[in-house]
Amino acid sequence: LLQIAIPLNFVGFIYREIRQGLADIEAMFAVLAVPAEIEDKPGAPALAIGSGAIRFEDVVFHYDPDRPILKGISFEVPAGNTVAIVGPSGAGKSTISRLLFRFYDVTGGRVTIDGQDVRDVTQESLRQAIGMVPQDTVLFNDTIAYNIRYGRPDAADEDVRAAARMAQIDSFIETLPKGYASEVGERGLKLSGGEKQRVAIARTILKAPPILILDEATSALDTHTEREIQSALDQVSRNRTTVVIAHRLSTVVNADQILVLQAGVIAERGTHAELLAKGGLYASMWSRQREADEAEERLRAAREAD
Ligand code: ADP
Ligand code: MG
Repeated sequence: LLQIAIPLNFVGFIYREIRQGLADIEAMFAVLAVPAEIEDKPGAPALAIGSGAIRFEDVVFHYDPDRPILKGISFEVPAGNTVAIVGPSGAGKSTISRLLFRFYDVTGGRVTIDGQDVRDVTQESLRQAIGMVPQDTVLFNDTIAYNIRYGRPDAADEDVRAAARMAQIDSFIETLPKGYASEVGERGLKLSGGEKQRVAIARTILKAPPILILDEATSALDTHTEREIQSALDQVSRNRTTVVIAHRLSTVVNADQILVLQAGVIAERGTHAELLAKGGLYASMWSRQREADEAEERLRAAREAD
């Protein structure tokens, strides 16, 4: 029985990975404005975007009926505020961002932006109002300039460059022989994960949407790159309603509210100071991260001493 169970689990794992990949392809389709399976209601109006307040009201969601993912999630992000979502891998953090973007419809409850249910407005208007810096950025097989300008096709060269400067990718681009005209993507220059992410940040800065979703994937990056990306993200989220999915707790310290997601429910919520004082889940995640960071620091010091 065990011999059969292991491969089946493994198949399940691969299957989920593929499904995950499909979600990312869907994200790309959204960028390309190709309609996904979710359709607008007949005669749906455009989202009347004001200041961009977000509400999740008792949201329930599953991909597969036999496996609930979100089990009644409620939170509010006042216009201009930043909410951070933390929690273990697989807790449903990215799912929350997909529901806000309406890649999927909720199973129960509702998601609103400025009081409008996201299911009642056109997807095009919804996606115009939201800028997303995803975990894995897929670049178009075109020039760097094209990839940045995708956020706002009519942007002037100077605006493209200003966005690149804010995203701290400008000086890197200048070192390339063909500068902004360099081809990237599969057939062109291979950019590192951090460089691709900064291109996506530049694109989002240029788009200047009222609502931002940042699905940080900085854990794989070195500390220096991570710090650069972090300051770029801080720039772009200023004065915007921001949902940041944080893999490293150092990036959430200044959030107006932190939600700790665990097993489909919000287990704790509050500011960094409040959650530390509480001495619960967040506090133990924080001290574990501190220990990991210190261990990493010692390792680096030892390597440099060699
Ligand atoms: P997190 O971002 O917190 O790591 P996700 O929101 O990506 O978690 O995923 C939550 C759970 O839903 C995970 O167990 C994941 O495997 C599952 N999941 C994610 N996307 C899909 C999908 N498209 N189909 C089926 N299950 C999925
Ligand atoms: Mg995720």
